[in-house]
Amino acid sequence: MILIVGGAGYIGAHINKILNKNGYETLVFDNLSYGHEEFVKWGAFENGDLGNIEDIRRIFRNYPITAVLHFAAFTYVGESVEDPQKYYRNNVCNTLNLLQVMLEFGIKRIVFSSTCATYGNPVEIPITENHIQNPINPYGRGKLMVENILSDYSEAYNLKYVSLRYFNAAGADPDTEIGEEHNPETHLIPLVLDAASGKRKNINIFGTDYSTEDGTCIRDYIHVTDLADAHLKALKYLENGGSSDYFNLGNGSGFSVKEVIEEAKKITGKEIVAVETERRAGDPPILVGSSEKIRSVLNWEPKYSDLSVIIETAWKWHEKNND
Ligand code: UDP
Repeated sequence: MILIVGGAGYIGAHINKILNKNGYETLVFDNLSYGHEEFVKWGAFENGDLGNIEDIRRIFRNYPITAVLHFAAFTYVGESVEDPQKYYRNNVCNTLNLLQVMLEFGIKRIVFSSTCATYGNPVEIPITENHIQNPINPYGRGKLMVENILSDYSEAYNLKYVSLRYFNAAGADPDTEIGEEHNPETHLIPLVLDAASGKRKNINIFGTDYSTEDGTCIRDYIHVTDLADAHLKALKYLENGGSSDYFNLGNGSGFSVKEVIEEAKKITGKEIVAVETERRAGDPPILVGSSEKIRSVLNWEPKYSDLSVIIETAWKWHEKNND
């Protein structure tokens, strides 16, 4: 049985679905602080908190866990700057609890959701896994700390891990069973779709004077189902005796904020009011990751990650969800 920590959230829920479709038994462990119980449509569910080590021990005692996928983290970069303690405690200390209990029970496989924010401001595009990791906010620093902890535990305790450094996860389950749902929502695509449906008046474009062709930031958007498939492959890799490793998880191509808005207009057929505003602090102009390594080592191939498919699936979810 695979333990999905944080499996009631946007990304964890998509992975829970794909694992079940591939014959795995899963247990979602989530404190529902940001997750959605209605997203846990597959496998078992236990409400609990990584901050409480007895909650974790109870899980490992009661279920035949063989590997862990870890998604439970706070993810608001701005908030991490204002309240770093909240981020280090949850994203780092609570992960130590999880690892401690894994070792107590002799469970030595973990897939960790890391982030391209561990690279900080890119000095080279596309960003490869060898790019210097110099994060510029507590969110990215906490994730890098966990990457380093995993590497040390791998050396010392023979724990096998895969860290996946996500670029911009987007889109929704093509069957619209689950989708993107954050409160507060800060991500570009759901906000653009809110502007399309009239749920919000407009979309703000954060900065139009970047050193890119149209002046707006470029990001590497990856469909959440492709991202889920990468986790399935990472899990199988560990089960087959693969050694500890880390991979970028992006498509290797980027789209600007304006391109995203234009594509959303086409797909929705709606007017979208875009208001040009100041830059948002801490946004690098371009974040695009090389996906060579994950393609060659894990045989991963994105299937849904055309921008049009990403937005189409997100729009279908948006319409269903706002009915
Ligand atoms: N963005 C924007 N307006 C918004 C939200 C985001 O212009 O209301 C831009 C943001 O500056 C970034 C890109 O869209 O360049 C993607 O932002 P998002 O928050 O979705 O993901 P991030 O890149 O921060 O992980």
